[in-house]
Amino acid sequence: MTSTRSVAAAAMLASLIASGAGAQAPAGRQPGAPAAAIDALHARLDQAAASVLPKVVAWRRDLHAHPELGNQEVRTSAFLAEQLRAMGYEVRTGVAKTGVVAVLKGGRPGPVVALRADMDALPVTEETGLPFASKARGEYGGREVGVMHACGHDFHMSMLLGAAEVLAGMKADLPGTVKIVFQPAEEGVPGEPGGAEVMVKEGVLDNPKVDAMFGLHVGITPLEAGSITFRPKGLMAGGDTYRLVVKGRQTHGAMPWAGVDPIVVAAQIVLGLQTVVSRQIDLTTAPAVVTVGTIEGGSRHNIVPDEVRMSGTIRTFDPGMRKEILARVKRTAENIAEAAGATAELILDEGYPVTWNDPALTERMTPSLKRVAAGTFNPNTQPTTTSEDFSYYGQKVPALYFFLGVAPKGSDPSAWAANHSPRFSPDEAALITGVRALSSLAVDYLAGAGK
Ligand SMILES: [Zn+2]
Ligand SMILES: [Zn+2]
Repeated sequence: MTSTRSVAAAAMLASLIASGAGAQAPAGRQPGAPAAAIDALHARLDQAAASVLPKVVAWRRDLHAHPELGNQEVRTSAFLAEQLRAMGYEVRTGVAKTGVVAVLKGGRPGPVVALRADMDALPVTEETGLPFASKARGEYGGREVGVMHACGHDFHMSMLLGAAEVLAGMKADLPGTVKIVFQPAEEGVPGEPGGAEVMVKEGVLDNPKVDAMFGLHVGITPLEAGSITFRPKGLMAGGDTYRLVVKGRQTHGAMPWAGVDPIVVAAQIVLGLQTVVSRQIDLTTAPAVVTVGTIEGGSRHNIVPDEVRMSGTIRTFDPGMRKEILARVKRTAENIAEAAGATAELILDEGYPVTWNDPALTERMTPSLKRVAAGTFNPNTQPTTTSEDFSYYGQKVPALYFFLGVAPKGSDPSAWAANHSPRFSPDEAALITGVRALSSLAVDYLAGAGK
């Protein structure tokens, strides 16, 4: 729906950009659209977001009632593609199995901005009691399970569809291109490739090449609906799993000198690894964790075994520090083993990288998020130890990821059912903030706000 007011606002933006009014920006920086033009665009955007809201609620409930597990989002994919085609997007399906990528070329030249939502649900049996609660069943790890949007990806998809419609309504006046990215399998599918890493390999960031990318997650902390929090640099942890195989030489437990004891070596390695974070890393720059989670070896009280197997997790918030810690863990284990005449082999299962918010982009887009936040606004929140595969996009292009509060206003934070709970029930009052946030980030970035 287009109102007289929004037509006037668009005309104002077009004429201000055309007149070069933006050239008053400080020397050495690319001019963006002037503040008055951006204000006019915001007014139009907010009106469009309010108009699309009933549809966003309906989309959300439909998606919620029909959740699909990672790499199986077939109905979801068809649903999203159909909506995007109806809005006038150029749609590509089947990206990383079930992903959907849609492009909208604005009426004016400019950069390319991408907005991303994840599509997958979890093997959780819903207990919210909502009228549109999921009754879906699926197969996970060879077992039949309930399937539920227990992480809020139904919110992510419906808000992004809403933003896509808002932006489609402004197409003629957009100075650049919008790429809408619906990505499968964020939660990971054991034994299968998928998600953002595969989307990147299949060219989601190319053709047209993406200049900046934005995404959000609902919940994570029990903040009131509409709250927005984020931070520059590491927002969510990089999580790597490692295994260590310590090989000695088996012998009689009464004659340890006749072999090499991997149990004693493993014990030394456990202690040695404690010093990686506590003694060797500058903890004033970012936190980090190295944990030994399992240790197994031996079969009998009087046998020194051949080998001990260990495993653990490493959590980091800074890509450089992650590399450093991985190298030090390997060095510590190998050299302690060598000192005893044993060997230690480190096998790394790389997890999702650090979700890294580009500092310059984060600073530039902070006013856009501040404008739309309801409730708490915190541009320097604490990092979280959960991980997110949006991080793969941030490794390739400047990216910004933020959290959207979805707890009902006035609810008790200590009683909150968090993401992945069968009772996770985000408040739909947050939907409008998500739609406004995503469309504002796109419009403000393209229009050069804050440049
Ligand atoms: Zn999740
Ligand atoms: Zn999630």
